[in-house]
Amino acid sequence: MLEQVLDSNKLKELKSILEESKSVVLTCHMSPDGDAVGSTNAFGLLLRSMGKQTAVITPDQAPYDLAFVPGFNEMTAYTRNPIKAERLISSADLILCLDYNGLKRVAQMAPFIRQSNARKVLIDHHLHPEDFADLVISQPEQTSTCELVYRVFDQLGYMDLVDTPIAECLYTGMMTDTGNFSYNSNHPDIYLMVAELVRRGVNKDRIYKLACNTSSESRMRLIGYAIAEKMELYPEHKASFIVLTRDDLDRFNYQSGDTETLANMPLAIPEVVWSTFFRQENGYVKVSMRSEGNFAVNTFCSRYFNGGGHLNAAGGEFRGSMEEAIATYHQLLNDLSKLQ
Ligand code: 5GP
Ligand code: MN
Repeated sequence: MLEQVLDSNKLKELKSILEESKSVVLTCHMSPDGDAVGSTNAFGLLLRSMGKQTAVITPDQAPYDLAFVPGFNEMTAYTRNPIKAERLISSADLILCLDYNGLKRVAQMAPFIRQSNARKVLIDHHLHPEDFADLVISQPEQTSTCELVYRVFDQLGYMDLVDTPIAECLYTGMMTDTGNFSYNSNHPDIYLMVAELVRRGVNKDRIYKLACNTSSESRMRLIGYAIAEKMELYPEHKASFIVLTRDDLDRFNYQSGDTETLANMPLAIPEVVWSTFFRQENGYVKVSMRSEGNFAVNTFCSRYFNGGGHLNAAGGEFRGSMEEAIATYHQLLNDLSKLQ
């Protein structure tokens, strides 16, 4: 029996909202990851089995690496098909906002969600949820939105509806957001859930292979190049720093998702507790930071890089050139030196 961690009044309200709604749009953050794709499709498939019309809409295209997730091929990416996405959003009577805490995370889709007359329910595990939804189920102590969605299904009495495809969606997010159960993963409930999902048909070895241990040749060479040629270490700060410019990315035929785990890798070095990765995008620099222990990277990302996130995994976007972004990183190192 799982610990009952969700507020029963909110669950009651959620249940009546779900039961009353007929047409549900499920949304997640841009650059969708395993947890975003897993949680939206798990909830979408479950609601469909209850007879509702459902549509999963992502702000931009999800990486093809996640094509094994049930429901993947039916998702609509706003950037690819804005007219269809806007039509679906405007005709929905319920919008579920999964795996994001604020409308900034859905980019160009934000105004359509804000203006829609549909009821909005946020179900998420990021800190500091924005106040735009009618009902907010925010549980930052959950390791993934998929774990939270599992708990929601469990407490709502919907577990009978969780078949193999839904179980695969939930398992994918739980696995990817914990690095295959290698961090944030000491709560015994997680393993009760994993056991139940495996019982419902999840082949966990297959999902690990597809989600975490499958790579194109060009991606593998890009990662090797980034570590061998581009990683700089700053021992006085126990820091590592990797920059990939547009030229670097083009050289290795970069595809969205190819650098997903790169920011974590330098933390394998015992002398590194803070890893930073910059990737050059059109008009901005994508920032990713990872850390170990109580070294908080979300504060750096919000203060210096217009972003945020969790204590040990955060990100942001620097609006400016790569040179300016690098100068800002060095400024941050300088500021830290003064504090030490
Ligand atoms: P990643 O480095 O994998 O893009 O993101 C790691 C975590 O940082 C995400 O789970 C999310 O919580 C947070 N994050 C990443 N990018 C942004 C951003 O632009 N803004 C905010 N607020 N958080 C971000
Ligand atoms: Mn997540």
